[in-house]
Amino acid sequence: MKFAIIGAGVAGSYLGNMLYNNGHDITIFEAYKKEKHWPVCAWGASKHMLQYFSQQAGLEFKDYIFHTGKKLRMELPNNKEEYLELKGLVTYNKKQWESDLLKNINIEFSAICKRETFPINKYDYVLDCTGFHRVLLPKPKNDFIIPAYEYLVENVHDINEFYVIGYKGARGYFWYFPLNNGMGFVGAGDIDKNYYGIKEFFNQHPDAKIIKKIGRPIRLSPPFLMEPFYSNNIIGIGESIGTVFPMLGEGIIPSLLCCEIFLKVLEEKKEKNGKFDKEEYRKRVLKKFQYYHDVYKIIRLKMDGKLNTVKHFNLLISMYKNMKKEEKRFGFEISFEKMRRLVNAL
Ligand SMILES: Cc1cc2nc3c(=O)[nH]c(=O)nc-3n(C[C@H](O)[C@H](O)[C@H](O)COP(=O)(O)OP(=O)(O)OC[C@H]3O[C@@H](n4cnc5c(N)ncnc54)[C@H](O)[C@@H]3O)c2cc1C
Repeated sequence: MKFAIIGAGVAGSYLGNMLYNNGHDITIFEAYKKEKHWPVCAWGASKHMLQYFSQQAGLEFKDYIFHTGKKLRMELPNNKEEYLELKGLVTYNKKQWESDLLKNINIEFSAICKRETFPINKYDYVLDCTGFHRVLLPKPKNDFIIPAYEYLVENVHDINEFYVIGYKGARGYFWYFPLNNGMGFVGAGDIDKNYYGIKEFFNQHPDAKIIKKIGRPIRLSPPFLMEPFYSNNIIGIGESIGTVFPMLGEGIIPSLLCCEIFLKVLEEKKEKNGKFDKEEYRKRVLKKFQYYHDVYKIIRLKMDGKLNTVKHFNLLISMYKNMKKEEKRFGFEISFEKMRRLVNAL
């Protein structure tokens, strides 16, 4: 089949690799110039899942790992601290990983695609992998995004572990994600755009040197609120259809899981010699990410000061049970007691 993939981020590069290796005709269109293309992200995710996806795509994930976390320190608004035992959370060289996925694949850089002008009829399918931008699909009814930005820094030698500050009302959080050789990402997502922690970080680490400032909002609305997932022969995959875990703004693994659903449905149809079953894809995405809607409700209630741990117990239990089931996919311990304490403290 002939595919246009719009966006060479996580979803676009993984799909490009997998579709190309399955004999499809692929062209990738990426808005940035080749030398300016940068995966906007703090490059943190579970190594268990990245090992799996790397293997599928013929890469060795251990070659990309920068830092393997042991304990994440979390400062809370009540002046308390919590520590999360990490079980596979790493930072990795996401830029190299994505570029290695795309070796041998035809990419048109500096191609800013637009709904009105993209020649969709030249392709069997056009995959909207533009993440937050969602450039080809129609606008959803209920989009919800959180502003975010970060710095890539170097010369930070006295902190070498994941560190976050949670904001009151779950309105966002600050992060420091260590890379290697004293480098790391300092950033924050904050609905109120105060970004507490960033200035303080630079005050506490006066030798830290900024290499790059990077930013874009993160989509928190889950797939349930991001329909349609397709329109004519355009199909959305990844953050463009809301595959971001709303509690954390974490989208690498969810986007890859969404790619996997797409590939599976495509493969099944190939066996039956038919067309790609868009409705089947839609149903499976909704099912896989169903509980993200509960997590999203928790966040929105918390942001509005309306979360009541008794009244909304079912939502909390849904979040806990589903996360516990997928502990490896998150890369950190999931404990109900800790979750309850965090929800109360925020
Ligand atoms: C500051 C920040 C930090 C984050 N940190 C983490 C983290 O540590 N861990 C984690 O799991 N998630 C993190 N996320 C979320 C995660 O990065 C995204 O959810 C994930 O990258 C989404 O993958 P995607 O492939 O759907 O989209 P993206 O990776 O965003 O890729 C979209 C691509 O489309 C291109 N594009 C956009 N518009 C056009 C256009 N008009 N024409 C052509 N191309 C276009 C973009 O340039 C980009 O290359 C972070 C997000 C932000 C903003």
